[in-house]
Amino acid sequence: QALREILAKRRETAAPADARPSQELSVEHLAKAIETGELEPWFQPKIDVARREPVGAEALVRWPHGPTGPVSPVVIVSLAEEHGLIDPLTFLMLEKSVRFRRLWREQGVDLTLAINVSMDSLVRLDFPQRVADLVERLGEKAEGVQFEVTESRLMSDLVRVLDVLLRLRLKRFWLAIDDFGTGHSSLAQLRDLPFNKLKLDRSYVQGAGNEERARAILESSVEMAKRLGMVVVAEGVETLADWQRVERFGCDQVQGYFIARPMPGDAVPAWVRAWPE
Ligand code: C2E
Ligand code: CA
Ligand code: CA
Ligand code: CA
Repeated sequence: QALREILAKRRETAAPADARPSQELSVEHLAKAIETGELEPWFQPKIDVARREPVGAEALVRWPHGPTGPVSPVVIVSLAEEHGLIDPLTFLMLEKSVRFRRLWREQGVDLTLAINVSMDSLVRLDFPQRVADLVERLGEKAEGVQFEVTESRLMSDLVRVLDVLLRLRLKRFWLAIDDFGTGHSSLAQLRDLPFNKLKLDRSYVQGAGNEERARAILESSVEMAKRLGMVVVAEGVETLADWQRVERFGCDQVQGYFIARPMPGDAVPAWVRAWPE
């Protein structure tokens, strides 16, 4: 307790010295960028391992012309969470992504969308209805949209989150648990949560190449997730060896720099068409 106070004090006193005096990204900048739609989704494709073809794309927030240059998504998201802006950010990403999905389909490319959702949205009981309304208004089906929730924060308000997750499932959205292996939840706890997809964190995907423990966790996670009827995605696949290993362990989908880096929505159809058969 005392130690925590000391640490907090130290952080307080350290902060102004660390902060850069000019060119600081302010919350006003961010609020404006959300309002004007200056933030945009870039997309990273996912490949179905058995069929060897692109099946989906994850939307990742980008701010190409930020006031301080390109801004990291981690900075954008934490600033938005801190100042109550994450909800408008999520809906901006959802709306823009769904519009891209329609555009791709008009060009003969059919990919599911994955949208990252912050915990702050999942404690709001009206979230499922609001996303369903938006998706319907844009003429799309819930089945084509997946929400990714980071595992590490899942257990903080479990009762309410469970309610929201169930409502989303009833509306036929897909639910993926993100960064699996980095948080505190066990697969046993997952049994009670309505996820139908599991994304293995890249630290296990990559670590399994040379660490026995990472390999053991990867292998047993895949096995149990599949017994629970979940689709398993390996993220952070950076090499052919990564791909072959997770394929051997039974992962259904792969995502990572080996396949493609995140790209602007406009670039997706051409990338998909160029994907080797
Ligand atoms: P995430 O959801 O785990 O997304 C994967 C991150 O890993 C992305 O970073 C992606 O560019 C990166 N990545 C993909 N493949 C590889 C690989 O092979 N190797 C390595 N080293 N990295 C890879 P990004 O775009 O910087 O996003 C970081 C995090 O920010 C995301 O992690 C997610 O938690 C959060 N985020 C991004 N966009 C949004 C958003 O629209 N809403 C919310 N709530 N969070 C978002
Ligand atoms: Ca994600
Ligand atoms: Ca992830
Ligand atoms: Ca992550």
